[in-house]
Amino acid sequence: MRNSLLLCFAHPGDESFFAAGTICQYRAAGFDVVLCCGTRGERGTPGNPALCTIEDLAVTREQELRDACAILGVTALEILPYQDQQLSQAPPADIRLSLVRLIRRYRPEVVITFDPNGGNGHPDHIAISRFASDAVVAAADERYMRDTGAPWTVARMAWVCPVAPWQETNRAALGKHPGVDFILNVENWRETKAQALLAHRTQSENIQRLFLQRSNADMVLGIETFRLGWGLPLKRLPADDLFQDLGTNYFVARRKRVRKLAGG
Ligand SMILES: [Zn+2]
Repeated sequence: MRNSLLLCFAHPGDESFFAAGTICQYRAAGFDVVLCCGTRGERGTPGNPALCTIEDLAVTREQELRDACAILGVTALEILPYQDQQLSQAPPADIRLSLVRLIRRYRPEVVITFDPNGGNGHPDHIAISRFASDAVVAAADERYMRDTGAPWTVARMAWVCPVAPWQETNRAALGKHPGVDFILNVENWRETKAQALLAHRTQSENIQRLFLQRSNADMVLGIETFRLGWGLPLKRLPADDLFQDLGTNYFVARRKRVRKLAGG
């Protein structure tokens, strides 16, 4: 069985904003990377000027997400059928079943989601963080949903960091912020991250502002940050690998390969 990483986000684009380089890095090292997106982002912006009607936005943004996933090499994309800006209203037992099924099927060692404050406070981000946490615990307990497969215990949950790379222009100072527990050097995948971001054509204004038109665009595209949610504590902070200290030779070998690919 291959190592795997599961990302649980709320909207098309979240994966490219917060974790595109991370996805590329672990895919290049042979990991399976599965993305679960809770909505199709149908209440977001259709772009300026608009690239589609509001009625077509769900279909358009789903296609943008699929294009970004193809660029990033995502192993599997799972889109849940919940409503944009109302993800918190998803029936808990319903979304738990969907997420437990995914966790037991793909058996990820590490799950990435938003932190309990949703990263930027977005209610959908807070909701997916809550639902993912609920599902990770349920997936490990055989009493839940026996027909969805054998229980699976996730080793670590990582949260999108409370300090994004575009919020701290001094790279050396980044690791001194509380909550910046992982700093991943994804410089080798800057171009791919930019391409994945640009695949979200309706979101172009934000992407240009936060990433591509910045004077330090190379820096903000070249690092990604995460916070340790729960799981074994890290021996060294900030860490440079989401699988650091998980304690098996298998992980150590994989880590060496990831570092080599990252030029470390
Ligand atoms: Zn979002």
